[in-house]
Amino acid sequence: MHDILPEEQKYWRYVLKRAESLAEDYSFERITTPVVESMELFLRSAGAGSDIIEKEIYTFKTKGGDDLALRPEGTASIVRAYLENGMNVRPHPVKLYYHGPMFRHDQPQHGRFRQHFQFGVETIGDASEIIDAELIFLAYKLLNSLGLDNYNVHINSMGDSSCRPAYIRTLKDFYKNRTKKVCAQCRVRFKKNVLRMLDCKEESCKEVSKDAPPIVDFLDEDCKRHFKKVLEVLDEAKIPYIMNPHLVRGLDYYTRTVFEFIPDENSKSQLTVVAGGRYDRLIDLLGGSKTPAAGWAMGLDRIILALKENEISVLEIGLKPKVFLVQLGDAAKRKSLVLFENLRKSGIEVKSSLGRDSIKSQLRIAHRLGVKHTLIFGQKEALEDTIIIREMDTGIQETVLLEKVVDMMKKRLKK
Ligand code: ATP
Ligand code: MG
Repeated sequence: MHDILPEEQKYWRYVLKRAESLAEDYSFERITTPVVESMELFLRSAGAGSDIIEKEIYTFKTKGGDDLALRPEGTASIVRAYLENGMNVRPHPVKLYYHGPMFRHDQPQHGRFRQHFQFGVETIGDASEIIDAELIFLAYKLLNSLGLDNYNVHINSMGDSSCRPAYIRTLKDFYKNRTKKVCAQCRVRFKKNVLRMLDCKEESCKEVSKDAPPIVDFLDEDCKRHFKKVLEVLDEAKIPYIMNPHLVRGLDYYTRTVFEFIPDENSKSQLTVVAGGRYDRLIDLLGGSKTPAAGWAMGLDRIILALKENEISVLEIGLKPKVFLVQLGDAAKRKSLVLFENLRKSGIEVKSSLGRDSIKSQLRIAHRLGVKHTLIFGQKEALEDTIIIREMDTGIQETVLLEKVVDMMKKRLKK
């Protein structure tokens, strides 16, 4: 788990601002759920044999004896909230977005943290292929608007409960004679959930899985038609994609479309930044009526690593102050509180640094912020109820009455 220091915050603001406004434009509404949930929720959704439950989830017992967990992902919580708050009576689809920290006891490494942040969207209550395509479109647009254009959409269909079992049997046959060539984890996966062997990150396992049969050969008519239509919509929207016959999601509740945004071969890092798909079985799995749904989650830590690796400038629009207030001595500091608030209230974008004492260090900050005007409020001025306006470009200074300064600044800034 890591700290996000002040100088890092601009990256987070840059990404979240764009992500939120894009989601709002597409009629997604923000939802916030607790970071702590009952352990039961994830046992039921992710499933006992999943990586998340087997090795990654943080759990604890409360003094009252409840088994709780830090959420490892967002979707299960959102579906719980959807059901608990009776959102199923709202007009469908219900479109929600969220962001916040997720917790996984994973092996920390580049781009993999024990607390990481995700931004995600979910569309609940619509089975049509347009939804899958819209979600992919949205992730694509978001990456582009952040200045990240080196990602490919990898896409596959995982079928559903009518066609997947036959595929799983074939996959089992395929791996049966190859268990010696895969990692220890995969030998466990072979017994518990063979599909996950396709998702292993070990080189030796990837090598074995290359020859595994593709699931698309096993899709039934409905799943095939759905998949085809998703691809058609993507073609029409000119979203390039790569069919990846071995792409699966780590969680059991996914059905049909699954996708990931993976950097192209020329990129330095090979970290997946967006992962998602359709999960038509999760809502009934958690006690609701059978309701189709789809969504994705974006790993924000990895997005920010990518922004830095690609040296993308994250200029903060609207955060630039126009005026800096310098104050020296106790009397000026005391009066500064009210003056600062008066400037701020009248709509002037002003900054000050009350803690600092020397005029030199305060002017240095003013220069760094690139303000046009600095107000200098010294001991003498505080006694006389005056203040100095300094134009930063020319260095020209003028002493004015304190009670006039707000109006004068308003006029100067209008010019
Ligand atoms: P992986 O296969 O890399 O372990 P995952 O399948 O567990 O990822 P999801 O559960 O789909 O990932 O999470 C969605 C996104 O969140 C991922 O694509 C990734 O960008 C990000 N993410 C997941 N786990 C971590 C982590 N431990 N640290 C940083 N980002 C993460
Ligand atoms: Mg993982």
